[in-house]
Amino acid sequence: MHHLCKRLTRNMTWRPRYFDIGVNFSDSMFQGFYNGSPTPKHPCDIEDVINRAHLFNVDRMLITASTIKESRDHLGLCEQYKNQFSSTAGVHPCSVANEFYVKEEDSFTEELRPDVSEKLAELKSILIEGYNSGHVKAFGEIGLDYDRLHYSSKHQQLEMFKRQLDILKEIQFRIPLFLHMRAACDDFINIIKPYIDDGTVENGVVHSFTGTEEELNKLLELGFYIGVNGCSLKTEENLVVASKIPVDKLMIETDAPWCEIRKSHASYKFISPYPNIFYPAISTGELNEAKPQFKLDDNLPFPSIKKEHYTKHSMYVQQRLENWREEAPAETRVGVLSRPLIKSRNEPAQVGHVAEILCKLNDITDDSDIEKFIDRVFENSVKVFH
Ligand SMILES: [Zn+2]
Repeated sequence: MHHLCKRLTRNMTWRPRYFDIGVNFSDSMFQGFYNGSPTPKHPCDIEDVINRAHLFNVDRMLITASTIKESRDHLGLCEQYKNQFSSTAGVHPCSVANEFYVKEEDSFTEELRPDVSEKLAELKSILIEGYNSGHVKAFGEIGLDYDRLHYSSKHQQLEMFKRQLDILKEIQFRIPLFLHMRAACDDFINIIKPYIDDGTVENGVVHSFTGTEEELNKLLELGFYIGVNGCSLKTEENLVVASKIPVDKLMIETDAPWCEIRKSHASYKFISPYPNIFYPAISTGELNEAKPQFKLDDNLPFPSIKKEHYTKHSMYVQQRLENWREEAPAETRVGVLSRPLIKSRNEPAQVGHVAEILCKLNDITDDSDIEKFIDRVFENSVKVFH
């Protein structure tokens, strides 16, 4: 009896807390623009996205910058949404050609732009300013991506990975790294190892990890944390590797609006319908539609609509609420009348699914063990990006 009471008390007070370490809020999809189309499909809905995240205790987020402009813009975004998230500052390997190399006709040469030093100085000053204001918690995304050499060549990536790491030698503080590494493990390690050995680099996370077990072990040996998202969990091979990441080195992320977990992925079978321990039930109030016009998401209590139907859904909600005007105040945080998820656009509220998959891969099924696991993963990120 005593045991049961204790258990009930704990379950009533414990709530999952998530830290989504990879959110691309600068992506135009959060402004309503998709696939390069100049016409928005919906207005900017970042506030809705943040509200949905908070409903499910995604209490912390790191928004990732990929260019110098984004790094600068994120300072303003962090100021605007105070205490909602922090940012990184850095130039992504896929962006280094565009940022630092001379363009001739339609392609980039291997020649550095004449203003490369000024650009790096600008990045350094953003890093210092962001660090001092508390908005920038990591240096990145920097690294190597050999899967997408059409954006930046190997030579360009290697050169600018080094030149960016050199910035760390010139600043007076230590800041964790937010690293991007795809199909480039040996070169990645060769470049970064000397900076670890001389104390320039203290810690960091290799995010969106999709490598082999051997690569995983090499990165763990260097002391790095490993960030896991939907892209890290696509295939059965991915799942085997993901299950080998020690809990004390694990971080979770969505990489939103990218890297969603699709029905065709090997990991999808591990996601349970809402509500569950990863997504505790939220009151729906009194408003229930007998025959809703819009369907809820399969695993979350929000409508999931095609971007083309955004306006239609808004009008439908407005009309239903007007019909109900005489009744009790409407509860529309969840349910068919709540603000919609956009189909195939990932967002921070979904990060709990990554946690659930990782729990199941680690054979963690007991409630108290799940709680410990979720707390531990949250604390890993809090500790590094404090
Ligand atoms: Zn990345």
